[in-house]
Amino acid sequence: MKSTDFYLGIDLGGTKIHAVLATPAGQVLERVRVPTEYQASTGAITNQIKDAARSLLEKVTAKTSGRLLAAGLLVPGPIDFQKNIVDTAPNLPIGGADFCTPLNEEFDIPVFLNNDVDGSILGEYFYGPSQNVQTTVGIYPGTGIGGGIVISGAVYRGKRFSAAEIGHILVKRNGPLCGCKTKGCLEAVASRTAIERVIRKEIEKGRESEITSILKDGERIKSRALARALAKKDPLVCQVVRKASEYLGMASVTLRHILDPELIIFGGGLIEACGTFMLPIIQEEINASPHFQRHPLRLAMATLGDDSGVLGAIATARTEADKLNLLSEEERARQYDSLPWYPQVSTKGDDALGKKESSQGSNWMVLASGEASPLRRESQTPLVNLAALKQSHLRKIVEGGPHEIVIALPDATPETLDTQADAFPEELRTVLDWLMIRLTILPAQQACDHFNQLQCRRAFVLIEKGEK
Ligand SMILES: [Zn+2]
Repeated sequence: MKSTDFYLGIDLGGTKIHAVLATPAGQVLERVRVPTEYQASTGAITNQIKDAARSLLEKVTAKTSGRLLAAGLLVPGPIDFQKNIVDTAPNLPIGGADFCTPLNEEFDIPVFLNNDVDGSILGEYFYGPSQNVQTTVGIYPGTGIGGGIVISGAVYRGKRFSAAEIGHILVKRNGPLCGCKTKGCLEAVASRTAIERVIRKEIEKGRESEITSILKDGERIKSRALARALAKKDPLVCQVVRKASEYLGMASVTLRHILDPELIIFGGGLIEACGTFMLPIIQEEINASPHFQRHPLRLAMATLGDDSGVLGAIATARTEADKLNLLSEEERARQYDSLPWYPQVSTKGDDALGKKESSQGSNWMVLASGEASPLRRESQTPLVNLAALKQSHLRKIVEGGPHEIVIALPDATPETLDTQADAFPEELRTVLDWLMIRLTILPAQQACDHFNQLQCRRAFVLIEKGEK
C-alpha cells in the first residue's frame, strides 16, 4: 500500500459509534463500529471513541507510513463552536461535552466537531456524485428535519451557528404545533414523525390502510413500513406522503429564492426508503413555480449511505485542518486530487473474478471507498442474474457514493448482453438516476477492463455464474 497521510473520522450516533481512518480522497483504510453506551456518561463515550481510534491506528500504522493529521467528530445536535463543545443532543447524554480536549491530548492532533447533518452534506460535497458544485443545500427529513448549506466547500453556519434550520421554515400558517412551539413549521408537516401522526389520526377516524397489516402491534411507523405501503399504492399513505412532499417542495422554492443553489440534496432514512416516490413530487412542486420554468432546480438523493457520517467527519477534518496548513502545497496537491486506490479486478480461471475470494463464492464487490466486500449477507442466496437484484443490494452497492457502478456479467456475450442488462430492475434504475450515478453493465472481461481504467469514485459488482 502506498504511503499517505490520513484522518480519523468518527460518527457518534444514538445507537452506534462508527469510526474510520481514511485518506483525504475518502478511501477508508480501516473501520470499526461499536454500540454506543447511550446511558453512560460523557467520559464513558469518550473512552469508547479513544478505544476505537487506538485499534484503528494499530492496524493502519502496521501497513502504511503515513501520519494521522487530524480528526473530525460528528454529533447529533447543535455545537457551540466558540467553546468547541456539544451544545445539546436530544438522544444522548452529551450536552456540554468536550470531546476535543481529551482526544487532542491522547493523539496529539487537532479535533474538529460538526453537526451530523452539516457534516453529511459536506461529505456529499467532497465525495458524492454531485461533488464540487458551488452551492449545495441539504434537507434530511427524519424525526425532525435537518438542514445544511455548503458554499464553496464550507458549511455556512451564521452568527450564532444556527443557520439552515430548514425544519423551522414556516410553510403552513396556524398549522400543527412544532417541537419549537411554533405552529406550521416544515418539520411539523413533512417529517417522518409528522407523516406518522397524520396517518394514525386518519386510522383512528376509521380510514382503512394497508399500513395496519404491515405494522406489528404498537410498532412505530418507520420509513421502511411507509415504503412498503407506498409500493402497495395504499391510498392513505400515498396521500399523506404526497402532501409532505409538496411541503418539502414549497420549502425548496424558498431556499432557491434565497440561495440559488445548483443542487438540493435530500437524504436520511425517509428519503432512502421513499425517495423515488417523494422526489418527483417535490420536483413537480418546484417546477410549478413560474420563476424556475427556464432554469429548473436540480434535486438529488444523498449517496453516501451508511458512510455518510464517517465521510462527513473526514470531510470536516480535512476542511478545518486545511486552515491550519498541516500539509505543504505539494503534499496537498498529491493527496487531495487523488482517488481511493481500487484493486485491479481481473477474470481468473473460469468463473472467479478478482483477487479477493470471500466465503460467499464470487459474489463480492468493490465499494467506492476502495474496500472489497461481500455483496450479500451469508443468509442471502447467491445473486445469479440482474433481475434478482434488490433494494437491499443496491443500498450496499451505492455505499460511499460511487459516481459509476460497473456490473460484470460472467456468462454474457455481446449478443446476449442487451437482454441480460434489460433485466436490471426498472425501479432501481430510477433510484440511480436520482442518485446521479452512472450504471455500466458489461461481460466480465470488458467490465474488468472498464473498471480498471475509470478515473472516478466507482464500485464494481460481480454477478455470480448461474447454475448450468
Ligand atoms: Zn419549528
